[in-house]
Amino acid sequence: MFDFNGKTVLITGASYGLGEAFALAFADAGANLILTARSGDLLEAVGEACRAKGAKVTVETGDVSIEADVVRVVKAGAAEHGKIDVLVNNAGIADLRGLAAEHFDAETFNNIVAVDLTGAFYYARECGRHMLQNGGGSIVNITSIMASGGNEVNVIGYSAAKGGLLNMTYQLGCEWADRGVRVNAVSPGFIVTEMTRPALEAMGMDKWISSRTPMRRVGEAQEVTNAVMFLASDLASYITGADLLVDGGTNASRGTFQIPPIHHEWNADTPMVPTDYEPVAPRPDWYQALEGGIPGIHYPLPEEAATE
Ligand code: NAD
Repeated sequence: MFDFNGKTVLITGASYGLGEAFALAFADAGANLILTARSGDLLEAVGEACRAKGAKVTVETGDVSIEADVVRVVKAGAAEHGKIDVLVNNAGIADLRGLAAEHFDAETFNNIVAVDLTGAFYYARECGRHMLQNGGGSIVNITSIMASGGNEVNVIGYSAAKGGLLNMTYQLGCEWADRGVRVNAVSPGFIVTEMTRPALEAMGMDKWISSRTPMRRVGEAQEVTNAVMFLASDLASYITGADLLVDGGTNASRGTFQIPPIHHEWNADTPMVPTDYEPVAPRPDWYQALEGGIPGIHYPLPEEAATE
């Protein structure tokens, strides 16, 4: 679907998860790659799989939160390939403990900000400078649905860092718009990866997440990849400073989808949610009270019924 022949793509956090999926997809589309993460062995395995698809691949280990590592990785990658056309700022960490903000420790908060926000800034700055000198490029920041609002999952460090990354996307999109460098965000909903597997699969949270998602399911890595490749490609040539949500409608629904509304039952012969979706929570009492609809609208008021 996409053609990245002759393009060089740098992907952070490419050793597993979404970053690995992006690397394989860009290799399939003809790109050459600069892959980075902290673990050399895992990264090399992804690099080998991409080389098998015909890509020229540079593997450079480094920690995105260490400025000197970022400078070294970008320099080595640009030297090896002669240029960097696309940066995918993907490396990220989260915290699944569900700690309320008033109990959240400074160390975890600062670590998350250092990787998810400051690390992405280091890469955007280093690659951005190179792209500006080179006459153009495209940066895709992987943010999250949690970047654009509050939620009930208690991830204050992550929400703050991703919100910052989204606003940085808007800022860089404007700053570099007239110099050929586009900067956009992809904001995924919940996708099963190493980051989310313990909560989604092991704890069964995927059912709850599905219940609050209008599409009634979590997402696939390929669905995020498609959005990243579109924004990275020349097909998105007039798009910068944009946030592409890949979240099954979650952000649009503003959380209203968890329990299907009672009018879905009143109108069962013309279903408004044509799936076999079962709500996960027990239904509240007012559901029983309203089972037959609204008196006077869906059935006669008691006094009307008495005079009939
Ligand atoms: P993951 O944990 O499976 O993979 C994260 C990747 O980042 C790994 O390659 C890891 O080695 C790398 N990484 C972590 N810290 C690093 C550091 N300090 N330096 C260099 N590399 C580092 O996570 P994922 O689910 O693939 O997430 C990828 C991105 O997508 C993250 O930014 C994440 O916040 C975001 N995201 C994920 C989801 C989801 O549901 N999986 C949803 C929204 C956003």
